[in-house]
Amino acid sequence: MQRIVVLAGGVGGARFLRGLRSAVPEAEITVIGNTGDDIHLFGLKVCPDLDTVMYTLGGGINEAQGWGRADESFTVKEELAAYGVGPEWFGLGDRDFATHIVRTQMLAAGYPLSEVTEALCARWRPGVRLLPMTDDRVETHVAVDLDGERKAVHFQEYWVRLRASVDAHAVVPVGAEQATPAPGVLDAIAAADVVLFPPSNPVVSVGTILAVPGVREAIAEAGVPVIGLSPIVGDAPVHGMADKMLAAIGVRSTAAAVAQHYGSGLLDGWLVDTTDAATVREVEEAGIRCVAVPLMMTSEEATARMADEALALAAEVGA
Ligand code: GDP
Ligand code: CA
Repeated sequence: MQRIVVLAGGVGGARFLRGLRSAVPEAEITVIGNTGDDIHLFGLKVCPDLDTVMYTLGGGINEAQGWGRADESFTVKEELAAYGVGPEWFGLGDRDFATHIVRTQMLAAGYPLSEVTEALCARWRPGVRLLPMTDDRVETHVAVDLDGERKAVHFQEYWVRLRASVDAHAVVPVGAEQATPAPGVLDAIAAADVVLFPPSNPVVSVGTILAVPGVREAIAEAGVPVIGLSPIVGDAPVHGMADKMLAAIGVRSTAAAVAQHYGSGLLDGWLVDTTDAATVREVEEAGIRCVAVPLMMTSEEATARMADEALALAAEVGA
């Protein structure tokens, strides 16, 4: 049985995982999820990326939106607003609230996030093993200029409240340096046959997971093919603010620049979209095997073909 480890963010990671699961239904897939986006709201611990993976693979996602629950209502949010209790910029629906209540209750009872996530997944049966990157608190902060002052804001505030409308000057995964990988993370990497970087944000999703001490080293030392799929197509992110995050760390928003940012010490293979076929040579000159294939996740079938291409490239570089 093939053992696959995937480092996933939210929407991009989750959609890719759905294609991967259908491409290789018999494989044992372990997902190491980003928790740098986690935030405390209304006294509750919210883990947006873990939940996006869980809901997407468990059939509870709002498909059009890519995050949050399907068939959602917002009564609790309206009632909180009637009390003047915010923040109003973060849209938590009633169904979603239940997840955060269960999680917060279990954390308060002393369970680590990894065990809480396992308990939540017992309901959703995502068909993968979902592990948070760490049980420790890590929060991605973004340095921005607001009202003439340089300030650090929580990543969610940058993305959801400010809608990435201002430039990011730095991105810091606060707490990452002191964090340790969650139970099972290093073991899964050591036992993997292949490690995949889905088309997740290279800075605030995959980059944050790699910032947990030991994770990058474990991947580099696992001695198995490490294959990534570019989230940048035609020199721009397909969705979101990866361009702003990349600019903050001095990396150009091109498929080739992201590959070189990960580097040949980590990546063995890189898939770029057919639109970016002209960059294949540049990536290969950096010592990373590169192939251009369609990388738009327009359907589960199209995404499954992307997963097949990634595994084919893994087989090729591993041979
Ligand atoms: P987030 O946590 O919800 O932002 O999700 P991820 O970090 O997992 O994924 C976000 C990234 O997915 C963005 O940088 C997008 O450019 C990328 N993305 C979204 N849809 C597609 C797609 O269809 N194809 C490719 N190649 N990338 C995509
Ligand atoms: Ca995210």
